[in-house]
Amino acid sequence: MKDIEFSFSCSRREALMLLAKSAAGAAAFGVLSPNLFSADAPEMKEAMFYEKLPNGKIRCLLCPRAIEIDKGKLCFCRTRKNINGKLFAIGYNKPCIVNFEPVERGPLYHFMSGTDTMSTGAAGCNMECLYCQNFELAQASPDQVKAIDLNVAKALREKNVKSLTLTYTDISCQPEYFFELADTAKALKIPVIACTGAYINPEPLKEYIKRTDAFAVTLKAHDDDSYLKLTGVHNTPVLDALLKIRESGKWLEVITLIVPEYNDSREGIKSLAKWIYNNLGADTPWHISRFTPHYRLRKLPPTPRKTMEEARQSGLESGLKYVYITNLAPHDGNNTYCPKCGQAIVERLAFKVTRKTMKGSNCGFCGEKIAGVWI
Ligand code: SF4
Ligand code: SF4
Repeated sequence: MKDIEFSFSCSRREALMLLAKSAAGAAAFGVLSPNLFSADAPEMKEAMFYEKLPNGKIRCLLCPRAIEIDKGKLCFCRTRKNINGKLFAIGYNKPCIVNFEPVERGPLYHFMSGTDTMSTGAAGCNMECLYCQNFELAQASPDQVKAIDLNVAKALREKNVKSLTLTYTDISCQPEYFFELADTAKALKIPVIACTGAYINPEPLKEYIKRTDAFAVTLKAHDDDSYLKLTGVHNTPVLDALLKIRESGKWLEVITLIVPEYNDSREGIKSLAKWIYNNLGADTPWHISRFTPHYRLRKLPPTPRKTMEEARQSGLESGLKYVYITNLAPHDGNNTYCPKCGQAIVERLAFKVTRKTMKGSNCGFCGEKIAGVWI
């Protein structure tokens, strides 16, 4: 789900391609050691959340597409297949990318800030965002990319990471895999983070919420028309999911990629900020993320700096306390400022914390409580 760029020597797209091509490639890239692989991954698992229809058809109840799937066919997200009248999760236990990186890359700035997370994901997504930075994986079926045979528990222990993040594609269409990963992490007392577009039905969402400690949800536009144009789906289910996550008390941060010509109007950005403020609360961190040309929007320019800064200003004027500029660094908007005294309390260079001036969960200058989970 994250739409960000590497600030290292190769871009995230290059890394994704490298990792997707082979597990050996992953090891060569230096994000995994071969002894973290395991060779006992089952091929697939019967899916959750579906109903059988006459003539061997199936209706998947996981996301609002609720598509009827004919025998032998894959559904839109490419992760679930009707095999002889039963629905199978074909991406089960097939991670295709793994990385060890700052939790801030989510982006998630108020949840265990400054620690490292293990990020992973499996191919497939139930949206098709025109700008998808990870389209080689998100717009592919798990059968089309090389899976990394990964022993998750061993990797979490050996790399000594503080959380597990499901990202890059959209884990919301892979509950069978996600629930097992989450249980593995929980057994090790490691918190679980889901980066998602949250295009999901209420019943499965409840099960996700039970197993997730923090959500980074992309809210892609302020109005339904723009949502549909950018992602191919309507916005109502996403707004409903955000409300449910907020009600649950689990930690939540919201991300909006500002795309020139699609969702960059000042009025639209203000209305998005107002919706977040009114419905999710002033303490909800909002990440204004910079678009860079990808996938079907290669001909558009990157979002101008001025647009990003005006968008951040609109967010702050709407009453939101923590509004960030991401995917544009260095920038003051990468930092966390105390909403009471205005001091920079977490300074970042892109996604790396360079200085933290907090006392526990409080501002190190004036003592104001700062929303989030801090360690
Ligand atoms: S298609 Fe959209 S929701 Fe899916 S991984 Fe890409 S950016 Fe995320
Ligand atoms: S989650 Fe995937 S299989 Fe289920 S309805 Fe949505 S697109 Fe189809």
